[in-house]
Amino acid sequence: MKVQNVRGTYDLYGNAKKKNKKVIELGSQMAERYGFEEIETPVFEFTEVFARNLGDTSDIVTKEMYSFQDRGGESLTLRPEGTAGVVRSFISEGMQQNLPVKFYYAGPMFRYERPQKGRQRQFTQFGVELLGVETPQADIEVIAMAYHFLEKLGLEKSIVVEINSLGDKESRDTYRQKLVSYLEKHYQELSDESKERLEKNPLRILDSKEECDKLIVQNAPLYEDSLNEASKNFFKDVLKGLDLLGIPYRVNNRLVRGLDYYSHTVFELVTNKLGAQGTVLAGGRYDGLVKEMGGGDVSGIGWASGVERLSMLLEEDVSPQRPIAVIEVSPEVHDEALKVSDLLRKAGYVVDQAYNGNLKKRMMKANKVNALKAVILGPDELMQEKITIKNLDTGEQKQVLLKNLLKEIA
Ligand code: ATP
Ligand code: MG
Repeated sequence: MKVQNVRGTYDLYGNAKKKNKKVIELGSQMAERYGFEEIETPVFEFTEVFARNLGDTSDIVTKEMYSFQDRGGESLTLRPEGTAGVVRSFISEGMQQNLPVKFYYAGPMFRYERPQKGRQRQFTQFGVELLGVETPQADIEVIAMAYHFLEKLGLEKSIVVEINSLGDKESRDTYRQKLVSYLEKHYQELSDESKERLEKNPLRILDSKEECDKLIVQNAPLYEDSLNEASKNFFKDVLKGLDLLGIPYRVNNRLVRGLDYYSHTVFELVTNKLGAQGTVLAGGRYDGLVKEMGGGDVSGIGWASGVERLSMLLEEDVSPQRPIAVIEVSPEVHDEALKVSDLLRKAGYVVDQAYNGNLKKRMMKANKVNALKAVILGPDELMQEKITIKNLDTGEQKQVLLKNLLKEIA
């Protein structure tokens, strides 16, 4: 048997795990501040939950899904993203009676991609979904929350908020016509995949990563010229709200999320520090999705962030609470040391100890775990109900009565 992990998957421990955890914790705190509540949906769903809703031409659906048949013959898929599962739950749990619904989630996603820095086959997303608010207030809040989340991580200086509007259905239809007639003129130069997209979902071509497509897209008609009055006003209101809150942004006319269900606002938070994998958070308004999945006419907006990509941007290591090292000088005080450790832990301290070795070895271990203080128990001292507390930063030490330990160590 080969003992190794699957390509594109990683074991998370040590500092990388701490950073991932910190990203999720700060995201959760921020989302709760905006009145969002956590949801956990299953890691796998019926394949239709994803395949129908992402539009059949997206990379995720055509190339990246981990789908399999289970023993009962059902086609299931490991979730590649969070929105579809949350919307499925929203519908199947009958949440439409009580709008708006505001959820955040964190968990693993699975995509069969070519692994590289910042691109894994199992990765973690932290995301939010707000269902049932049609007005720009939702867009403003959700983008502000994304920005403040990254600000909490200390990333605001290396991040740009890029934003665009795809308009309502009428605007998108106008745009699609203009785009198709432009692209038809360049049909021969398009990649094979985009030739196919031209029929099924031409908007996806704007999002293509193929060089030949990118060249053509450079001169494609701009979305903003196709927006009707209502859509223009909607976008203006979103930008006005961001200005009011002091959220810096850059309107990027080329930004699209090629999926059919996106409308009005789309946005990405991008850094220049991760090369081609610079998008750390992306989202948009998906007013058509709930209906497409068999629910009512409920609008939605949300975003998802790549937790590993964000963790990579965190410069400082996450420092945990420094422990107290409990050190037994000789085996006969072992039971007492056990009780002292227990007492300290119950009082809320992190307690670490070497599991064997003499005093010197145990002191070395205490330094290695960056202990703040050592509590040293020796047999002679203990006879007098005393122990020693040593401050490992200053080297200062003092003998105290065992019964005063908690008071003295504080
Ligand atoms: P990309 O253009 O980089 O492929 P995407 O459009 O597929 O991104 P989304 O579906 O919008 O990405 O997912 C939201 C976020 O999740 C991305 O901005 C990114 O930070 C993260 N992400 C997406 N795919 C991966 C992956 N394979 N490995 C690590 N993080 C990822
Ligand atoms: Mg992708």
